[in-house]
Amino acid sequence: MLNIPVYCNLLWLEKQAAIDCQKGGIKLSFCHSCGLIENQAFDPAKLSYSQDYKNSLHYSSGFQDYADSFAEQLVQSHNLKHKNIIEIGCGKGNLLVSLCERGDNQSTGFEPTYVPRTEHNHMSNKITFIQDLYS
Ligand SMILES: [Zn+2]
Repeated sequence: MLNIPVYCNLLWLEKQAAIDCQKGGIKLSFCHSCGLIENQAFDPAKLSYSQDYKNSLHYSSGFQDYADSFAEQLVQSHNLKHKNIIEIGCGKGNLLVSLCERGDNQSTGFEPTYVPRTEHNHMSNKITFIQDLYS
């Protein structure tokens, strides 16, 4: 089984810290009933999310274009208009903002590493961010 870093989005300040980082296995399984793909070797005890975790890809204009078209596709194909949406692991909240803007939706995002952002203030009456795991 592979022994790979459990974080893909942490920038290590020291080379040795990167070499010594927490590692874990990958054993993917696929559920033919619902399509879920999961890592059966996942061990949540190896994770310690913090606000150092960099989970945003929105610095890339290519990713922004993808995210915008994905949000539009979700709103259109699932009629996400005037709905209540929950996103578990919402990162910086960009998808929720996009879904709420496009469909006049309300939403709640759960993300232990969420950092409040002033650019989301205009959506504060539409979106609630909870800095915790979904329970
Ligand atoms: Zn399933």
